[in-house]
Amino acid sequence: MDIQELAEKVLAGERRALARAITLIESRRPDHRAEAAELLDVVKRSDRQALRIGLSGTPGVGKSTFIESFGMMLTAKGLRVAVLAVDPSSARSGGSILGDKTRMERLSRDPRAFIRPSPSQSELGGVARRTREAVALCEAAGYDVVLIETVGVGQSETVVAEMSDLFVLLLAPAGGDELQGVKRGIMEIADIILVNKADGELKPAAMRTCADYAGALRLLRKRPQDPDNFPKARTVSALQEGGLEDAWADMITLSDWRRETSHWDARRASQARHWFEEEVRLGALARLSQDKELSALMDQLGTEVAKGLTSPRAAAERVIAKLNAV
Ligand code: GDP
Repeated sequence: MDIQELAEKVLAGERRALARAITLIESRRPDHRAEAAELLDVVKRSDRQALRIGLSGTPGVGKSTFIESFGMMLTAKGLRVAVLAVDPSSARSGGSILGDKTRMERLSRDPRAFIRPSPSQSELGGVARRTREAVALCEAAGYDVVLIETVGVGQSETVVAEMSDLFVLLLAPAGGDELQGVKRGIMEIADIILVNKADGELKPAAMRTCADYAGALRLLRKRPQDPDNFPKARTVSALQEGGLEDAWADMITLSDWRRETSHWDARRASQARHWFEEEVRLGALARLSQDKELSALMDQLGTEVAKGLTSPRAAAERVIAKLNAV
């Protein structure tokens, strides 16, 4: 494969080339890994920056409906929109929830949109790496907005927040007046909370839920990366396309403010550092499993640790010592 040529096509914004490039970075073959690294290096020169929006919500809150309506609204403004997903459960459950072909049908036919399901790997680390690289490719291809969707299993919200400029939490109207068991950690990384399904009979419940969350957000410590009135909660109806313009206006207000105050650059810089360290960690772990002697030692020590014969720390130190000797 001619990597230079593929890179040129990606930079020219060709959708098929972008799809092929993402397939390449998803491949685990060592020769593909080397080509992928080269490709990412070449496209990096574009310097284009998309607005990366992380979007999380439990199944059924209306993520696909929202992405379709919101995405169509953005493409109607002339913006190019890419949708990526982080779904570490897809490999285990067989079919990916986020990769379901029937989802976002209108958006997937829109020439200004590009949709890519989650890579089917069961390890969050692997999915995260691919998605982060796919984000870089979409940016190089000239997409203005990259939506990164996750169902929020395990640590996936944190992982998505680490590759986003803004993090949006989508919620459904709650039945009672209790907050829907949203973990405090997730509240703390949310920039905008959208309570969906604010239409018909659900509207009053959606408004109550929204008020509850607005109250909860006010109790959180003020973060330096936020202008006044952020983080904020508002209601939307993905189905009836209500409140989407306001939600977009909030995102623009927030991203403009962060750009002007250098929080944008600082966040991207610390994210780049984070992913660099993550790559080193993944690389070191991969080396452990590739080296026969080391992986045999890992197995043996794993058994000893499980039996309580060795402490996890002492066992780990033996592996590290061995690694140093290689
Ligand atoms: P996802 O699992 O988070 O992707 O959720 P879906 O987008 O598949 O939506 C789950 C269900 O909620 C579907 O039956 C949608 O029609 C419905 N839904 C999504 N958005 C809205 C909305 O704004 N209002 C109402 N009333 N229903 C909605």
